[in-house]
Amino acid sequence: MKEYKMLIGGEWVSAKSGQTRDVTDPASGELLAKVPEANADDAKLAIAAARKAFDEGPWRSTPALERGKLLFKVSKAIMDNFDKFVEMEVRDCGKPRREAEFDVGDAANCFEYYGGLATKIHGQTMNTPDGSVSLIVREPIGVCGQIVPWNYPLLMSTWKLAPALAAGNCVILKPSELTPMSALELGQIFMDAGFPPGVVNIITGPGAGAGEELATNPKVDKVAFTGGTVTGKKVMQNATNNIKNVTLELGGKNPVIVFDDCNFDSAVDWTLFAAFANQGEVCSAGSRLLVQKSIHRKFVDELVKRVPRIKLGHGLNEGVVMGPLVSAAHRDKVESYIKIGIDEGAKLLCGGKRPEGKEFEKGNFVEPTIFDDVKPSMRIAREEIFGPVLSVIPFETEEEAIALANDSEYGLAAGVFTSNITRGHRVIGKIRAGITWINNYHPTYNEMPWGGYKQSGIGRELGLFGIEAYLETKQINIWLDDNPVGWY
Ligand code: NAD
Repeated sequence: MKEYKMLIGGEWVSAKSGQTRDVTDPASGELLAKVPEANADDAKLAIAAARKAFDEGPWRSTPALERGKLLFKVSKAIMDNFDKFVEMEVRDCGKPRREAEFDVGDAANCFEYYGGLATKIHGQTMNTPDGSVSLIVREPIGVCGQIVPWNYPLLMSTWKLAPALAAGNCVILKPSELTPMSALELGQIFMDAGFPPGVVNIITGPGAGAGEELATNPKVDKVAFTGGTVTGKKVMQNATNNIKNVTLELGGKNPVIVFDDCNFDSAVDWTLFAAFANQGEVCSAGSRLLVQKSIHRKFVDELVKRVPRIKLGHGLNEGVVMGPLVSAAHRDKVESYIKIGIDEGAKLLCGGKRPEGKEFEKGNFVEPTIFDDVKPSMRIAREEIFGPVLSVIPFETEEEAIALANDSEYGLAAGVFTSNITRGHRVIGKIRAGITWINNYHPTYNEMPWGGYKQSGIGRELGLFGIEAYLETKQINIWLDDNPVGWY
């Protein structure tokens, strides 16, 4: 058991209230750590530290090359501590080892990517009509509050920190109260790398209080939030206080469309991964399967046949590819949706219950669950469950599939399986979602913009778009004629 402090103004500090929160392993209930339980007062201190670092500190004037090199150091330190981070992520949020390994590698690569981009922030020059020399320059936005969820603690923190720092901002990061460990460990890496005090502040605590303060406080210039759509709406409302720049990465109810001309085996494989990777606790999870009627029965039978290959258990155990849900409360929510699905009349094909056996007794496990004959109006077809529950809806025509896919308040991700690439392009072109795949699902690239249409969010993270989100734009017009114009 480790006792953590949080990082404010370059110091490791306790919460002002002295309160702490227990962090437990969702697979075993084991106590892993105690972390400070920050409230609005602690958030205010962190905001003041970031404000001071931005307004008075050296960070804004630190050459981009130096900022980039510091980010390279962070990337290297993550790789030097690869196993430690992998184990921490598995224990903290319950993910299987292979997925934690993807996350840690991606996080290191993301810091490297944005370290490289720090020196590639360019402005423009314009030919203005009166002959002035006109420049467009890019500047950091200022102090950024960054709020992340529990499903990818290290990676979501990285997606926020790396571009913001590359662009020259100062930040206050708040990880989820359920999974704060890797962000705090990252804090030590920032200190060791030599980031000036106050440039990176990391506070741990719940949304009410600490999180709300980051969204509301007028000294914060931008709030970047990843989490549920309901919370995102509150963050956006609170951010109106001082018209903050806002980025929102929210939920999804993402369609996977399988046409009868697909590569059958490959489509089955990816469909299971789309739905059940990271226990389905993925914003982009392919949780709505739209499958063409001509292969519906055969496809669903094959899915069910392969489900027993999804080995549940503690994510550190050999061969485990599905861990527990993050908390007992979240498991209750997922189980309540399973009950709703049964009550609504969907056909439960497999799962729907907790696995039996001693190794599952103390964890928040739920079996991979597939519902067939789901009607588009059912709640399990419309609402984000955020667990290992797949809802299958059959369709007949391409037009019907597109209409069903778009029949959602969300627009985060979508996948299409077909061996007709023309059809694949045509269908994806008509789907209102920001992240799409043809003939696979989930691979995510630091170079590509991540974000959603509709109620799945505003703005994009990653790639060049990700650094844009942390830059202001200024025009500078230079008059070259020393003679008075004679206006008056
Ligand atoms: P959540 O909305 O409950 O919490 C997210 C974060 O917001 C946490 O740090 C929490 O403490 C904080 N928070 C809660 N209330 C707040 C408030 N009023 N003001 C400010 N901050 C507040 O989400 P969660 O349960 O942690 O994560 C699951 C959700 O995240 C899912 O809906 C999922 O789709 C979404 N998500 C989206 C993406 C994406 O890229 N679009 C990625 C991962 C997760």
